[in-house]
Amino acid sequence: MELAGYCNASITTKWGTLLDSVEPPPPPEPAKFAIVVGRQDTIIGIVQKGRSTKATCTVAERIKAHGFEWNWACDIHDAGLTQELNQITAIVRLFTPGDASDGWKCGLDSSGIFTTCAMRVKVANNTPGFPLNRIDWIKEAPLKVSTFIWKAKMGRIPSSLALSQRGVNLSSITCGHCNWGEECADHILINCSFANDTREWIFRWCGIGNVAINSLGELLKFATTWGRCPKKRKLLTLISYGLLWLIWKARNDRIFKQRFISPTLVAHNIKSLVYLWLKHKGENKGIKWVMWSISPFLCL
Ligand SMILES: [Zn+2]
Repeated sequence: MELAGYCNASITTKWGTLLDSVEPPPPPEPAKFAIVVGRQDTIIGIVQKGRSTKATCTVAERIKAHGFEWNWACDIHDAGLTQELNQITAIVRLFTPGDASDGWKCGLDSSGIFTTCAMRVKVANNTPGFPLNRIDWIKEAPLKVSTFIWKAKMGRIPSSLALSQRGVNLSSITCGHCNWGEECADHILINCSFANDTREWIFRWCGIGNVAINSLGELLKFATTWGRCPKKRKLLTLISYGLLWLIWKARNDRIFKQRFISPTLVAHNIKSLVYLWLKHKGENKGIKWVMWSISPFLCL
């Protein structure tokens, strides 16, 4: 036998518990019956496999004072079915229906409500090595940018090193800009001289002095914990996203289009890009370019 389908959750849970509590005998042959439970009004019945599963009654109708009363769709005394019948009858006999209404209940956490967050925690807890890198998802940043930052933090952007580790044949995995380090995500976005010069320019604009930053994770941690004002932190984080995104685009333009751009120009483009994000997606629509170009924090 098998439990088919779409039972309401409380019944399902009880069935599941019952099934778990009974030592399941190995089936000698494929099951011939299926228990069918409908979506609406919790319709139940047993049908022979291959036949129509159209429901003929409700759960409530099948629950009697002495327990379940099955609604057979075929002759249960057919040869070879008795053992199966006894097994499922033994399981069902232990079931005690309650007075509460049936309904779906998610078992991921104690709230009983399905959330993607709860599902993610479940997956993370059951998957060794699952990346737990988190980033702040800022609504002013386009989704493609936030996704890029998230992937970059895990080192999963298509850098030369990442591609070679995935079996792509490359003539070299050394950074084509500085010819110094292996071209990994942290090198492209943080440690390369191009990234370093651009970041210094942006930090000066933000009124931030020299800060030793060696990885993308360190940069994001610095931005999200900097100072005491939450609004400033969020803005610095958003600016960091713009910084990383345009450094990546400049790198791609250099490699694929042979288009070279200076760190100073990239920094100017970052100012313009983040300004547009705030102007069109932020809450402060009255943001002024003149003030913004002097210091981003004058616009808060
Ligand atoms: Zn480099």
